Amino acid sequence: MFSRRDMLVVSAAGAAMTASTAHAASFGNPDQPPQGAVNAKGPGNLRDPGPQNEAIGSQFPSAQFPPATDVGGMPMDWASFNNAPRRIQNGGWARQVTQKDFAISDTITGVNMRLTAGGIRELHWHQAAEWAIMTYGSCRVTVLDALGRPYVADVNEGDLWYFPAGQPHSLQGLGPDGCEFVICFDDGDASEFNTLLVTDWFAHTPPEVLAKNFGVPAETFAEIPLQNLWIFQGKLPGDLAADRVAVSKAGRVPPHPFIFRLAASAPTKESRGGDVRVADSNNFTVSTTVAAALITVRPGGVREMHWHPNADEWQYYIKGKARMTVFNTGPNAMTMDFNAGDIGYVKRNLGHYVENVGDTDLEFIGVFRAPRYEEISLSDWLTHTPPALVAQHLNVDEATIAKWPDNAPGIMPKS
Ligand code: MN
Ligand code: MN
Repeated sequence: MFSRRDMLVVSAAGAAMTASTAHAASFGNPDQPPQGAVNAKGPGNLRDPGPQNEAIGSQFPSAQFPPATDVGGMPMDWASFNNAPRRIQNGGWARQVTQKDFAISDTITGVNMRLTAGGIRELHWHQAAEWAIMTYGSCRVTVLDALGRPYVADVNEGDLWYFPAGQPHSLQGLGPDGCEFVICFDDGDASEFNTLLVTDWFAHTPPEVLAKNFGVPAETFAEIPLQNLWIFQGKLPGDLAADRVAVSKAGRVPPHPFIFRLAASAPTKESRGGDVRVADSNNFTVSTTVAAALITVRPGGVREMHWHPNADEWQYYIKGKARMTVFNTGPNAMTMDFNAGDIGYVKRNLGHYVENVGDTDLEFIGVFRAPRYEEISLSDWLTHTPPALVAQHLNVDEATIAKWPDNAPGIMPKS
């Protein structure tokens, strides 16, 4: 990638940038007026002499020097947990990116949370459904469903949970070092900092009502906290089997798990280029409003050109270095760079692809506010359309079209 210093050299030399992109330019961006570095002829045209932050700027080579095929202007599709303020309490912390922070993300609010070993995210509930992926350590989750059926489980890195809207739940970090995870609420206007908390309700109910409600003397509640706990340091729970026995006294058992071991599940697509794992209401039954695809792309590979007909895609970048281009009418095309901890967003039906531009595996998850995962692959479409028809559109001969992948590969390896 070009650093600013490289660009100064390139600009001084004049020809290097033009030479490196000349081939692309021969069939890239035909739009008027000519846009892109390939068209910059004036001395110093590509220099950025103004104030800048090298540490931030260097993370966005594609924004600074977009490919010649990028055109127009599109809403920002990049956000990050890396610069989201952490709300820290004893026992853990959380930070979030809501639609207020990230305008195009109207279907999903993202939350990144850490709980220490024994750290408790207190018993609570909220208006939105909660989907999550574990990215570190182990966590015990509890939930009670709408038919009064309790559930307790332990989750580890690569596992998911899903709590339907309004169903009360808790999270607790386990040993040896607690956990970290990312939550998606199925509403861009949700907030982890604004949930219905059990301690708040107790503190704001008269003791005599608590006494009547629970059938015990009012003095029982003399020591309740008067401020909510939200996240607090607790004691490590006992073993899972004992907790399961403790909650199952009525014998009511939910018909489905509230967790799903996504990273350990069989890939739905697998190739030399990487693999795709999907969790939606087909295999993760309880997850009726959120579908997800966990994507691994090997170095040099590309998550193939595709779109999603049924939902926007909210992305969380877990490992590696990515470059995504999104295509819209206009035409508009925008390329952006993503690193671990970053968030991407693609509106429903907009074409996109994601390249692994690093030298290690790229891993990211796409989250969709939809009951089912749906995608349309560009190559799958064009290889299942009469070849003569496709050939006339693209001036590519039918024999070449016959070589295109016709199995919706998901990931294409480095060529
Ligand atoms: Mn919650
Ligand atoms: Mn996608």
